Amino acid sequence: MPTRVWDYLLEYEAERTDIIDAVESVFRSGRLILGDSVRCFEEEFAAYQGVRHCAGVDNGTNAVKLGLQALGVGPGDEVITVSNTAAPTVVAIDGVGAVPVFTDVRPDTYLMDVGQVEAAITSRTRCLLPVHLYGQCVDMAPLERLAAEHDLVILEDCAQAHGARHHGRMAGSMGAAAAFSFYPTKVLGAYGDGGATITSDGAVDASLRRHRYYGMERTYYVVETPGHNSRLDEVQAEILRRKLGRLDQYIAGRRAVAARYAEGLADTGLVLPAVAEGNDHVYYLYVVRHPRRDDIIEALRAHDVHLTVSYPWPVHTMSGFAHLGYAPGSLPVTESLAHEIFSLPMYPSLPVEAQEKVITALREVLKRL
Ligand SMILES: *Cc1c(COP(=O)(O)O)cnc(C)c1O
Repeated sequence: MPTRVWDYLLEYEAERTDIIDAVESVFRSGRLILGDSVRCFEEEFAAYQGVRHCAGVDNGTNAVKLGLQALGVGPGDEVITVSNTAAPTVVAIDGVGAVPVFTDVRPDTYLMDVGQVEAAITSRTRCLLPVHLYGQCVDMAPLERLAAEHDLVILEDCAQAHGARHHGRMAGSMGAAAAFSFYPTKVLGAYGDGGATITSDGAVDASLRRHRYYGMERTYYVVETPGHNSRLDEVQAEILRRKLGRLDQYIAGRRAVAARYAEGLADTGLVLPAVAEGNDHVYYLYVVRHPRRDDIIEALRAHDVHLTVSYPWPVHTMSGFAHLGYAPGSLPVTESLAHEIFSLPMYPSLPVEAQEKVITALREVLKRL
């Protein structure tokens, strides 16, 4: 069997009874949209992440979009984020009519270089949008200071950071709101699409709930500000509830995989992930770096190991964002990374033998480069 960066079939085999039972229980409940499963999942997920409210939505992109709208970010507002992220972060900013402004990333963690944020602030800046990429948090204290000084809101993109901690604080509890994705590959993944926006601010939560429900208060059926239909599905919510109970186990499994890579690849010339001080990494992705990245990926195919790159095209270099006006070379760290990083297989049900095979193949390929 080929080894890939992500696979869910072994996990499904192990959890099948529970997953099928989740589906069956929703189908038998008599309530298929915004029922008990969504409500309970919202309460349980908010508690897990350490905030007061959670609004379940249909995917992570809309979680970011609704988060921005609920925080009052709209047309013409500038949102400071990074180009080294999953494109949906930026698609969501664009989707509310706001203007993404990019800082470069740090050469060690590949996360937002917060030292560059202040220089990017203008009179139009409304929001700072740190992305807790790969499973560890951006350095938040400087952002919180800048947000207070310049009257900005912080929206955390936590799509890759369920359960991550930063100096003891939970990802998603540090900004005014935070967006999560439950895309199947994520640290907490659904069996289909799902997302959530969390906050401790009751007014922001009320706005999120209106935005995901056409713009209506559920009890009044009147639209004041037109919204979207962006509800979390009841079936996915019940599956997520079951999986939330195992989230700490999944994270422990990911950390065990990371520890085996760190040991098996320590002296190979590959640059392994650096964990910033104060961070508890949840290893959504295990991203390594080497100047001969493309040759390595190609050679590993012969060993039946199929790797991917997250992300090969920085968002500012994509044709869809050419209008933002970032010339090649404008974000040098981001651009050089894009040629050198790649992701190793990383998921909690990755069998130890499969991982050993990857390590052995990688060591062999690196020796022969
Ligand atoms: C996955 C992801 C998203 C989008 O989530 P979807 O559920 O796929 O819409 C947004 N931001 C980041 C950083 C992601 O990794």
